[in-house]
Amino acid sequence: MPLTNQQYQDIMREYSDLRMQAEEEADRRRAAIEKSLPELPALERRIASLSVQETKLRLNQHEEEAAGVRQDLEEAMQQRLKMLADGGFSEADLAPVYHCPMCRDTGYITRPDGSLEKCRCFKVRETRVLYHQSNLEGLLEQQNFDTLTYEYHTGEDLSHLKGAVSICRDFVNSFETNYRNLLFCGTVGTGKSFLSCCIASELLKKGHSVVYLSSQSLFDALARERFGTSADEPYDFQSSLYDCELLIVDDLGTEMTNSFVETQLFALMNERALRRRSMIISTNLTMGDLQKRYTDRVASRILERYDIVRLTGPDLRTLR
Ligand SMILES: [Zn+2]
Repeated sequence: MPLTNQQYQDIMREYSDLRMQAEEEADRRRAAIEKSLPELPALERRIASLSVQETKLRLNQHEEEAAGVRQDLEEAMQQRLKMLADGGFSEADLAPVYHCPMCRDTGYITRPDGSLEKCRCFKVRETRVLYHQSNLEGLLEQQNFDTLTYEYHTGEDLSHLKGAVSICRDFVNSFETNYRNLLFCGTVGTGKSFLSCCIASELLKKGHSVVYLSSQSLFDALARERFGTSADEPYDFQSSLYDCELLIVDDLGTEMTNSFVETQLFALMNERALRRRSMIISTNLTMGDLQKRYTDRVASRILERYDIVRLTGPDLRTLR
């Protein structure tokens, strides 16, 4: 489930291709511009050489001469802008146009302290890889708001389902402004995973990073990362779990629960809460079961921070 080194390399190669395309495209535009402004290259060479001269003079503390060169330099730069404008061009016509202006197609943004941070576009790519890999793409084609049906529900079950759908739609619509967590609970086949898929599908379409994992594969992957039993070395799986915009944990309680799982679940819920990143958990367990299985601290976090959405009704898996 986590990004492997190979997948990380593939993403970085994609970025390098994008940068190359942007730069080649800028070179083609420049060539066309130089054709209609034949004096531009010589003027630009003059600007470059004046700039070098100025720097040298300042390094040798010839301030007065440097100031003179600076004046020539500024005039030449003005002349260049005027030349471009008279020809009907602007500075922007010469610059590469990157897909992501934030990171200039490098995948990383430099923080004020000089350290690097993954760009939002990297996280989207990362999620796409994970999502592709977990076969979620196919699942989401079948399970989304367009394929949602009310035909198997009646009476109270139907009103629970309608209430749940309206909570899901609100969750999607206010996702960018409202930090919220959901817990879907109910017996097997009542549509908990289906509704999680509806939300995942809408948010992925809007370009958000969503990681959707079954509880079992989540804790297996964390254990592999922690205890290093994976041959295919995972790429910083834990931080993608902390950072993705929405984390969906499906079928909590179906994993082999032990103290490692309890600790990881608690840490995950806390870390994401600190970052105000939403989580959706679905489970067949009751609140009492959750408390017994994952201790009071996990159960009380859920009660405090999650909107609990109960689903009831027949087992849809047998009806469909
Ligand atoms: Zn970016």
